[in-house]
Amino acid sequence: MPTESTYPTIDIPNLDLWGFLFNRKDKPFPDDKVIYRDPETSRFYTYAQTRDAAITFGRGLKAQWRWKKGDVLALYTPNCIDTPAVTWGVHWAGGILTPANPGYTVDELAFQLHDSKASAIVTQKPFLKQACAAARKAGISENRVVLMGDERDETGRIKHFVDIRCTRGMNRYRKCKINPKKDLVFLVYSSGTTGLPKGVMLSHENIVANTMMNQVGEGKNLSWTGGFNNGGDKILAFVPFFHIYGLTCLIHHSLYSGLELVVMAKFDLDRFCQHVQAHKITYTYAVPPVILMLGKSPVVDKYDLSSLRMLKSGAAPLTKDLTDAVYKRLGVPIKQGYGLSETSPTTHTQRWEDWHVHIGSVGRLLPNQTAKYIDDFEIEVPFGQTGELCIKGPNVFQGYLNNPGSTKNAFTRDGYFKTGDVGHQDKDGNFYITDRVKELIKYKGFQVPPAELEGILLGNEDVEDVAVIGIYEEERATEVPRAYIVLKPTLPPSPESATRISDWLTARVANHKRLRGGIRFMSQIPKSTSGKILRRVLKDSHAKE
Ligand code: AMP
Repeated sequence: MPTESTYPTIDIPNLDLWGFLFNRKDKPFPDDKVIYRDPETSRFYTYAQTRDAAITFGRGLKAQWRWKKGDVLALYTPNCIDTPAVTWGVHWAGGILTPANPGYTVDELAFQLHDSKASAIVTQKPFLKQACAAARKAGISENRVVLMGDERDETGRIKHFVDIRCTRGMNRYRKCKINPKKDLVFLVYSSGTTGLPKGVMLSHENIVANTMMNQVGEGKNLSWTGGFNNGGDKILAFVPFFHIYGLTCLIHHSLYSGLELVVMAKFDLDRFCQHVQAHKITYTYAVPPVILMLGKSPVVDKYDLSSLRMLKSGAAPLTKDLTDAVYKRLGVPIKQGYGLSETSPTTHTQRWEDWHVHIGSVGRLLPNQTAKYIDDFEIEVPFGQTGELCIKGPNVFQGYLNNPGSTKNAFTRDGYFKTGDVGHQDKDGNFYITDRVKELIKYKGFQVPPAELEGILLGNEDVEDVAVIGIYEEERATEVPRAYIVLKPTLPPSPESATRISDWLTARVANHKRLRGGIRFMSQIPKSTSGKILRRVLKDSHAKE
């Protein structure tokens, strides 16, 4: 029997994300509450300023570009406090936001622009050249490339996002009507269980549901933690807003719960510690490699981090050693959460009151979901045994964009989403993730699709055949991609060839996809009779090494 969540079922309002966030009757904080703060400048947005900036941007989209329901805007920037105004403005105007990693190369960005059918890009000055080149490749006109942040384009060709804002005759333009169940709000990219990155179609209902499910999972009113307090609690956000985990930072505890979100453009340990100390940060979303630094780096000793009350870890597995190291050093509990782009994202999280009892668990199933574990034939395994985790709930995505084949493969015959992750649950309702059946590699929480690297490497003149797998590096608390390569017949394997191929790839991919796990040469890639790479054989041979 599939497992029902142990939490009571909650009512999910039939609202679009805008209505859910900005037309609330039960908002527990005032309109002038600061929600997004830039710690490097004195800039901030209150709740009301966020809403008003979003409306003027949304109206501008309609006034200047005749923006229609379903139009897609790509965001190609590091974290920035102007991101929310653009994001909610796109939604106000009925559009869909597709966030892209600012580390993407021109080709990687052009792929997403083309695949998502984006018709505009918002970026920042340091990324403008790449954005324009990718826009050209994807057939987007340069006057649909727009800047965000403090700097303007001195040539005057590229508009700034405040120039898109519409203040004249504003009331002519009305918020777009949305069907929360069907209409899309975000198109995030994930390779799913196999192949190249695909557009994960998330509806308004998916995100609204997951926001409410997380409020329950946080145990807001626990006396053990004192609960979240929107007067004093502050969150430091460095997890990237282009990833679903970062997108939840913009919504769950900030805009929805009224906590101040101090926004870092990217992670740097010194800056992180400085901001915790200066802004009296109480909570932060993190990933295991950051937990590692907090537990082990000498930098941490230079700062007073005593304001920190809790840390949440997600996006990749967290070991007991790391949890213990941070607790011993800082006295801060870490609870784990688990989820995927396809589940909007969080499906499980640990409870604050028993994080220390079930270390290693990703916690309980959040409300309104059912879960089961299956074997290779989609038969449910008996309770407590290991299998592939499958989920059903209002947070499960609508399918992969223009990809009915992958969408079909992502679900069981009875409509459960197959996560590609392997684990089990205990009798107290705690779930454990122990392995993956999917080929995905995660470097510091970022997706590295092996099929994408293999496709690129096959274009190298020295490479006859290739397979890429992830290997776990304990000293960095992350997986790293490693390539197994068969060289062209006349080429002898050598360290020079490995460096040449690795450098060649580095020039073609975003930083997180580099072959940090190195290259191993072999005479033949292990494959099944149907030609499928037997990654398990390579993983086992690495384990023996
Ligand atoms: P993404 O769609 O980029 O969020 O990646 C989702 C994948 O990240 C999952 O399918 C897991 O393989 C992995 N993941 C996320 N959270 C955890 C966790 N707490 N423990 C283990 N793996 C995780």
